[in-house]
Amino acid sequence: MLALLFSTHDLAVVRSLCDRVVVLYLGRVMESGPVAQVLEAPRHPYTQALLSAAPSLEASRRRTRILLQGDPPSPSAPPSGCVFRMRCPVAMPACAETVPALVDGVACLRVG
Ligand code: SF4
Repeated sequence: MLALLFSTHDLAVVRSLCDRVVVLYLGRVMESGPVAQVLEAPRHPYTQALLSAAPSLEASRRRTRILLQGDPPSPSAPPSGCVFRMRCPVAMPACAETVPALVDGVACLRVG
């Protein structure tokens, strides 16, 4: 058995090379699971935004683009609660107070 850790922003490469994927934001796991599950039906808002920006020749894989506002915060001074909340299009007040746990492969207070 061979296990490789492959780091990339190219989701097409992930789709063709990997069995499992872990989506990170500011060094924190946002979503993880089998490639087919995460890339075909993303549940975390950050994964959804990433996939909406990925080009595809296949019409069935094209998504409505989700434009994230602002810039990523400094990793040395991450925001309280969910580190994605400053750019999350569906953030709510609780996101500033609670670090979402990874539950069933997703770290989001709105998923579960
Ligand atoms: S926990 Fe809140 S801010 Fe973080 S991804 Fe979910 S909804 Fe968005």
